[in-house]
Parts: sequence; C-alpha cells; structure tokens
Amino acid sequence: MNILVVNAGSSSLKYQLINTETEVVSAKGVCERIGGEGSSITHKQLLKDIKVKKEAPMKDHSAAMKLVVDALTDKEIGVIADMNEIQAIGHRVVHGGAYFSESILMTDEVLAKLEKCKAFAPLHTVAHLMGIKGCLETMPGKPQVLVFDTAFHQTMAPEAYFYPLPYEYYEKYGIRRYGAHGTSHRFVSAEMAKVLGKPIEETKIVTCHIGNGSSISAVKGGKVMDTSMGFTPLAGVEMGTRCGDIDPAIVTYIMENEGLTTAEMDNLMNKKSGFLGVSGFSSDSRDLEDAIANGPSDPNYERANLAVNILTHGIKKYIGAYASIMNGLDAVVFTAGIGENNPHLRELVCENMEFLGIEFDKAANDAAPHVSENTKISKDGSKVAVYVLPTNEELVIARDTAAIVSAL
Ligand code: ADP
Repeated sequence: MNILVVNAGSSSLKYQLINTETEVVSAKGVCERIGGEGSSITHKQLLKDIKVKKEAPMKDHSAAMKLVVDALTDKEIGVIADMNEIQAIGHRVVHGGAYFSESILMTDEVLAKLEKCKAFAPLHTVAHLMGIKGCLETMPGKPQVLVFDTAFHQTMAPEAYFYPLPYEYYEKYGIRRYGAHGTSHRFVSAEMAKVLGKPIEETKIVTCHIGNGSSISAVKGGKVMDTSMGFTPLAGVEMGTRCGDIDPAIVTYIMENEGLTTAEMDNLMNKKSGFLGVSGFSSDSRDLEDAIANGPSDPNYERANLAVNILTHGIKKYIGAYASIMNGLDAVVFTAGIGENNPHLRELVCENMEFLGIEFDKAANDAAPHVSENTKISKDGSKVAVYVLPTNEELVIARDTAAIVSAL
C-alpha cells in the first residue's frame, strides 16, 4: 500500500510517501510558511535522488495539500501516476488527550473528540484539523487515519499519571500526565524487544528519546509504566530551550520578582531555558559539544559543560527510577537527534552505572558517532543491553494506517 504520511504544523506541512510492503520512502518534503509571505514547497524524489524547492502561494493547508499531490504526480519529480495510487493518509497528531489510546480511522465522531484536544495542545490541534480538512478537500473519500503521540502512554496506572493537586482539577481540566513522543517510544521499544530476542511481554526497557525535545519512558512488557513528559511537553529532563522539571514554587517566585505575566513566564520556561538558558549561547547540542571540545580556553566551555551535565544527570536519575518501578532492567535505548548523534552524552549517562548492570562499551560508542542502524554500545555479557536505535515515527504511522485500512 502507498500511504501518505502527513505531519501538519501551524505554518508547515511535512509529508512522506511510504510503500508499506517494501517500507521504502519514495518521496518526502515540506511546505513552509503556509498562510504567509514567501511560502514554498521542498520536494525530494528519493528514487532518483532529485530535490526541488519551489516558491508558491499557499493560503491554507488545502492549498499546500494540492501542491503536495501535484508534486507526487508530476511527470518529472513525481513517483505516482495519479492519486488513486495513494491508498490512505496517516496523520501525526500531537495530543489525543485521554480520548485515544490507539490509532484510529477518522470519522465525524473522531473529529469531534479531536476538537476537545484543542485544550491540551491548541496550536498543534488546530494545525492537525487544517491538515485533515486539506486532505478531505484534495482527496475526497480517501481514508484518513490519526496516529497520536500520546496514545502509547495511555497504559500508565493512575499513580503514574495523577498529580497530587486537588482532585477537582483532574475532573475540571483533565490535568494529568499524558506524555509525548509515544510513537517513537513505541517503535524503539518494539525494536529493542526484537534485538533482545525475547517476547515483548517479558521485557523491561528504558527508552531515551533525546532531541531538541526529550522524553524518557519505562516500558515494561511492551506497555508504558511511566514517562518523563507530563501534562505538557515542558516536563521531564532539560531540553534545547525547555527547562523540564523544576520546583513549581520557582514559577510564582520569578513571576513575582520579575513582574512577569503568565505568557512571559510560559515563554521563559519553553523558549529561553534548557541548554539555551544555562549555556547562554545555544540550544543546539552541537554548539555545546564544540565549546566543550575546545577546552577551558573557550569562553563558553564552563556553561556548556554545565548545561550538558544537567541533562546527563537527569537522564541517569530517570534510568535508575524507572529500573526501580519496573523491578529490573533489560535494556536502555538512545534515540532521536541527540541520542543518535552524540556519543559524549551517551557516555556521560552510561558511565558509573555498573551497579545497575550496565557495562558500557566506550570503544563501540566512540566508533558510532552518528548512528543510522541499530548499534550496540554495551559490552558482551552486560546484564543490561545498551543500544542506539534510530527512530522512525513516519514508518509507524504508515504501518498503523495500512493495518486499519486493510481491515475496513
Ligand atoms: P526535535 O526534537 O526538534 O525533533 P531532533 O530530534 O532533531 O529535534 O534533535 C535536535 C538535536 O539533535 C540538536 O541539539 C542537534 O544538535 C542534535 N543533532 C541532530 N542531528 C545531529 C547530527 N547529525 N550531529 C550532531 N547532533 C545532531
């Protein structure tokens, strides 16, 4: 089946065309600045290795979808003759609240529930709804499937997802832990179970999705027991520009002393903290690693080190805590931009963890700075296996979509 995977953001729309029999991505691209000046589509035809970028007006997501279909069916840069060769569309949806615990076929009833998720992720949900509408207008009648970033985390027990606030706020606003990056945690934990060669029901895995946004999950028997992101993706470990877990009293303290509004405080925690806030110069781990590699003569050395050490300390704590709630640990997985491309961070996390059964293989880790295939970085015989597994959320979306559409 050819599945068009769509990831609609507020002013962008990313897409991939994936054949689910061969799992080959034949084309992918992105529409940018939708609804604004200077909008463009960048399209890559991967079978012939062609890349084109074209400026084109896009007043909304429907106009963007039309350009995507034009590119996919173009004689020169396309990969299909017409839209009939696309069997279904799979959408990445950031937040499904407590309404969705698995991927689902889009219907009016489903859309009505998705509307309610606006409360949790307003910008993203509005963008997804526009993406879905765009597909309805461009490809009427084509089945659409929604795949939620939160769905995999719906297996958490109440003690893991409840916050110890007055109960009424759970009932009134749905305030609880939802988690994020669930599609990625699901993919890499299933891959890890395959690598371990055990039935997934018998596995205890900590998955570390470390990128610009980062989350860590405890996956026992293929089900999430706990995850580091919370009511929003601001919680958990330190991130590129997000602070992660802090003492909640700091929020009101800074607001009072700096005279900040709620919007300003929200911006401070989401956009000005994390690597950027601590280092004072960059949110990108590559820049921090360069400053660290330059040594103490680099003016950014000390704070770059501090920023990275805060993250590695945080990841270590989650691994220990999650091993404890799972009553054991078979494997630790690193994935996403930093997890797949930063051997220094992986080493800092995994060193001095022998007590937990992690025997880190520094040579294997150093030999794999950028990982594009499953790579072991623990020693043979290590009680806990440590792997770097490249994530592939689009493939999960395509697989789920094909499975749901095949069963219709
Ligand atoms: P997002 O959460 O936005 O999807 P990513 O998973 O792409 O982010 O992660 C972005 C982070 O990963 C950045 O800090 C960046 O430095 C790092 N990263 C991504 N690709 C590479 C690479 N090829 N080499 C080194 N670091 C990388």
